[in-house]
Amino acid sequence: MSSPGTVHVAGAGLAGLAAAVALAEAGRRVVLYESTDHAGGRCRSYLDSELGCRIDNGNHLLLSGNRSAMEYLRLIGARDTFEGPAEAVFPFVDLASGERWTLRPNRGVVPWWLLDARRRVAGTRAREYLAARRLRDAAADATVADCLEPASTLYRRLWQPVAVAALNTRAEAGSARLYWQVLRETLGRGGAACLPLVPREGLSESLVDPALAMLRARGADTRFAARLRRIGFAGSRVIELDFDNSIVDVAAEDHVVLAVPAPVAARLVPELAVPDDHAPIVNAHYRVAAPPGTPLFIGVVGGTAEWVFRKREIVSVTVSAADALVDHPVEELAVTLWRDVAAACGLPERPVPPCRILKERRATFRATPVQLKKRPMPRTRWNNLLLAGDYVDTGLPATIEGAIRSGLAAAEAIARLTADHGMRGHAVSDGAERSDDTRTGADDPRRGKARLAR
Ligand SMILES: Cc1cc2nc3c(=O)[nH]c(=O)nc-3n(C[C@H](O)[C@H](O)[C@H](O)COP(=O)(O)OP(=O)(O)OC[C@H]3O[C@@H](n4cnc5c(N)ncnc54)[C@H](O)[C@@H]3O)c2cc1C
Repeated sequence: MSSPGTVHVAGAGLAGLAAAVALAEAGRRVVLYESTDHAGGRCRSYLDSELGCRIDNGNHLLLSGNRSAMEYLRLIGARDTFEGPAEAVFPFVDLASGERWTLRPNRGVVPWWLLDARRRVAGTRAREYLAARRLRDAAADATVADCLEPASTLYRRLWQPVAVAALNTRAEAGSARLYWQVLRETLGRGGAACLPLVPREGLSESLVDPALAMLRARGADTRFAARLRRIGFAGSRVIELDFDNSIVDVAAEDHVVLAVPAPVAARLVPELAVPDDHAPIVNAHYRVAAPPGTPLFIGVVGGTAEWVFRKREIVSVTVSAADALVDHPVEELAVTLWRDVAAACGLPERPVPPCRILKERRATFRATPVQLKKRPMPRTRWNNLLLAGDYVDTGLPATIEGAIRSGLAAAEAIARLTADHGMRGHAVSDGAERSDDTRTGADDPRRGKARLAR
């Protein structure tokens, strides 16, 4: 890249990390600021004192077709920290009937697996799957349920659980078009794009720590406990970043990637519209060993639990779009969810093992047609400010893949801006740009703060 400028990345979730590693890889000078004392945001691991082991804040599943996540893992050298079956296999159990089946799409794009009853969802016929094409042509305000057949077994056993997992929104409210995009990038590309991948150790060990190590190796500056409080704008540019104890000047050739959650971005950027309705996710982590032969994960229908994950010393369960659960007491949830986990894994119903319940009330924005209209584009009216985060309009739901794609896109946009404009940024006089900067006098929030040299 021709510009010697620094890129300031605020927020060290996956979007910020992805932007930072892509920029560092391209040779840019990067400073990464994070308000907490750790990176990873909504996707990380930590030591749980009660369970006495490390757990992930939530269960996250990647698919081999998540091309942005795969590119990120390549950049940070962490692809081999994931494990998963060599084939696209998705074991399910229906707790209402006791039936078990394994969805097994074939590797190629021609979906001949639909013709084989042993590869389909139990109790479904091949032609029913073709109805999914209605999602492709759906109106912008159509929901998944508007396009599919809510009374069908296929809906209850496949379309609904996948919609809830991918959109964190029930099929009756989730955007049909967004769901189509998810299916197009995964099932639509054949089983080779649907190989399930889970972190062997934990989310941080796979997605966060290797990124920080890569950034350190490239000389990037990572600053924790650095909460961005205010952005100083002048004309068409960001000119300064105001943190708790310091103000950072943003030079003419610098760029800023704002990779904070949507509500924080809306507070920092004037007139920024963002999705403002969020859905909860509940996770239960049980300190217990799963019986030998238990698959890495099991889809559960007909119960309260949705996806059960087997980990080394933990069995975890996730319930997305968990509006009906999130206000229940944790003791009650531990028992209710364990009943389903025990049935799914063939474990005794009593006693309930030691358990940690994690409720994320605002896990992601709801992927409804109304909320999608509020997603901003990454470029802003300030020509050195880019947005990244799972809420930005990536055409994907709020997922690891969406967050990483937004970060990579912000890095790419900066590369393009730099190439397009060459050194034009330098030509703008700083004095002229600052002329409509009105923060002076007693209200000047810069008073008493250290001004940091980069
Ligand atoms: C429980 C749970 C389960 C999930 N399960 C899945 C799954 O199975 N599959 C999947 O793909 N996705 C899943 N997701 C979604 C996925 O985790 C998120 O979409 C993704 O992690 C969002 O990344 P982000 O970088 O956009 O935002 P965040 O992770 O929120 O990162 C933003 C960062 O900015 C920091 N920050 C905030 N304010 C400031 C400030 N003022 N200054 C500086 N820094 C600031 C925050 O501390 C945070 O580190 C799940 C999410 C949750 C919560």
